[in-house]
Amino acid sequence: MIHDAQLGTDVYQQTGTIVTRAAVPDLEALYALAQKRREAAPAMGTVQQLTAQEVQAKLPLLTAPQAGVFLSGGARVDGAALVTTLLAKAQQRNLTVRQERVELDGDENIVTSAGTRRYDRIIVAAGAWLPDLLVPLHIQTDIRAQKGQLIELAVKDYPLQEQLPVLMPEGERDFVPFGQGKLIVGATHEDDKHFDLSLDAMVTADLLASAQRLMGTLTDENVVGVRVGTRAYSSDFAPFFGPIPEHERLLVASGLGSSGLTTGPQIGRLLAGSALYGGTPDWSDYELPLSTYLKSSLA
Ligand SMILES: Cc1cc2nc3c(=O)[nH]c(=O)nc-3n(C[C@H](O)[C@H](O)[C@H](O)COP(=O)(O)OP(=O)(O)OC[C@H]3O[C@@H](n4cnc5c(N)ncnc54)[C@H](O)[C@@H]3O)c2cc1C
Repeated sequence: MIHDAQLGTDVYQQTGTIVTRAAVPDLEALYALAQKRREAAPAMGTVQQLTAQEVQAKLPLLTAPQAGVFLSGGARVDGAALVTTLLAKAQQRNLTVRQERVELDGDENIVTSAGTRRYDRIIVAAGAWLPDLLVPLHIQTDIRAQKGQLIELAVKDYPLQEQLPVLMPEGERDFVPFGQGKLIVGATHEDDKHFDLSLDAMVTADLLASAQRLMGTLTDENVVGVRVGTRAYSSDFAPFFGPIPEHERLLVASGLGSSGLTTGPQIGRLLAGSALYGGTPDWSDYELPLSTYLKSSLA
């Protein structure tokens, strides 16, 4: 998809990913698991065990590297840039964008500020806000909102090494270098904060402390930004998507949790294909039936 849409490295770059483990048996188990999973998922690329020194060579920012497993297929993506770039490209083709909070009515119409609108197919990709939207259709949705925060740091640039890999360290926050001295560290999973979007200094300090355990040179001064958002989780932490049973005009997607930057584009592609070409696609390899997550509130 990244190739088809001709997206630049500011949006997506296949830098590889390193996943570390402190104990040797855990590292070997992880390596064996990665090799096994690769048989069914060639997009993972090559799988390689790295010593702590080899991890440090790939990620010179680290002052306390651990041994790990490197997957060449791993990538980093800037979610905001991905969305704005795809929307801009689609508008050059045939898409009209309207930014507005809307509702659904009980007859599968969209209620906008300009009146009620009826469409052949509607994709309701409203993340954690899906339950409210489906209330007029008497549908109860198994989705809860979770707050997430991350920090952006300005760090030393390595101009000859702009493709620094993503690091998923054991027991610490993910470490995502974007090149040109930009580093993202996060994110938090705050179940009790739901839709709260306020910034929390204690959380920022905790994220910085996590980063400092990997990169001892960091101080408060390196923190140049904080981002906060809302994730959508289903009870079994799995995403769901497709036509709503008994409301086939409406397609939904939600529950993308902490993997939506990874799975969202493919889910969007499947839904768009289904909306355009119809049919009853069999997505049972990817998800449980939608009736697992959407229930009638009249029953
Ligand atoms: C801090 C943080 C870090 C993350 N890190 C990662 C990561 O490293 N890797 C990864 O894969 N994923 C990550 N994620 C998860 C990823 O961002 C989400 O899974 C993904 O954005 C979900 O996409 P979505 O389109 O389903 O929902 P959203 O991105 O939530 O989009 C839903 C949209 O619907 C709109 N909407 C809702 N109600 C209405 C309405 N009534 N009318 C009009 N519009 C409405 C909302 O405004 C919103 O724009 C992270 C999330 C957070 C918060």
